Amino acid sequence: MLVVMHSHATPQQIEQVLAAIRRMNLTPHPLPGALRTAIGITGNLSAVDPRSLEVLPGVFELIRVTKPYKLASREMHEADTYVRMPQTTIGPGTFTLIAGPCSVENEDMILRTADFLRAHGVHLMRAGAFKPRSSPYAFQGLGQEGLDILARVRQRTGIGIVTELMDTDNADAVEQAADIIQIGTRNMQNFSLLRRVSRSTKPVLLKRGLAATLEEWLMAAEYVMAGGNYNVVLCERGVRTFSDHSRNTLDLSVIPPAKHVSHLPILVDPSHGTGKRDYVPAMALASLAAGADGLLIEIHPEPDRALSDGAQSLNFEAFTCLLEALRRLAEPLGKTIN
Ligand code: PEP
Ligand code: MN
Repeated sequence: MLVVMHSHATPQQIEQVLAAIRRMNLTPHPLPGALRTAIGITGNLSAVDPRSLEVLPGVFELIRVTKPYKLASREMHEADTYVRMPQTTIGPGTFTLIAGPCSVENEDMILRTADFLRAHGVHLMRAGAFKPRSSPYAFQGLGQEGLDILARVRQRTGIGIVTELMDTDNADAVEQAADIIQIGTRNMQNFSLLRRVSRSTKPVLLKRGLAATLEEWLMAAEYVMAGGNYNVVLCERGVRTFSDHSRNTLDLSVIPPAKHVSHLPILVDPSHGTGKRDYVPAMALASLAAGADGLLIEIHPEPDRALSDGAQSLNFEAFTCLLEALRRLAEPLGKTIN
């Protein structure tokens, strides 16, 4: 449910409505707008008599939100959301690049990648310290040592860090190292993890589950938002289909409906989506054309020596070419690459 306040409602009247909602054992989410404040309500609304709120001073109208996800829906929050980090902002008008190796392997390759990205105007680097691998025998990431490397390189270069959180035990450490916390595909419905990041002050990059519908994906976002963290960025990374020509099927057709029903920004990961570096540039450009707000893309100083996902990682030269092509395409679309 959404309580829309009058444009002339006073702060005291807004406070009274918030208190009334709390008394009903529901959670109010104030949504200040340019003209008026709205208040989203989450919780079990079945026993609530909406008239008790409707009659409060300063209330203009009550709107029922029909979607099962509330805070993530456009019904509750009409304008597109901007997610702000110290280094950059993700949202309308821009196309944000997040690039980096699949895993933190050592300090030298992380520093080289960060310096390269900074020199090319990219503000966010993604690298995993904790890696979800299909095989228990594969490289699992450097763990805390990887986070320490990321923190030192962030300090030295000023680049923003995106890194994955895999379990609640490491939440404090990942939260400290990250400017954006990544929740991976396999954890999209790990509800204790979602609840933990819902209490974080850091934005969350929420990858789509391997077989998740748009509604399930937005319900996962709702877990994060319901706990008070409204800074969620969605990331399409391909879903599992019968196709065997690519690692996953990159579902760019999810972008227009996601934009229709939700105000959250959406990035695309063409690296996991295709699994092959030769196919990445075409799908990166297609993502921009399809209305995405940016890319999460794997690059590596020496892809053929990578400890994970080398086959889908671009080298610096290929990434530079892609960047030029993205800049050319962004201009007529009215977007700036950042
Ligand atoms: C990754 O981003 O390196 C990763 C493991 O991605 P996903 O969760 O999409 O498989
Ligand atoms: Mn990877």
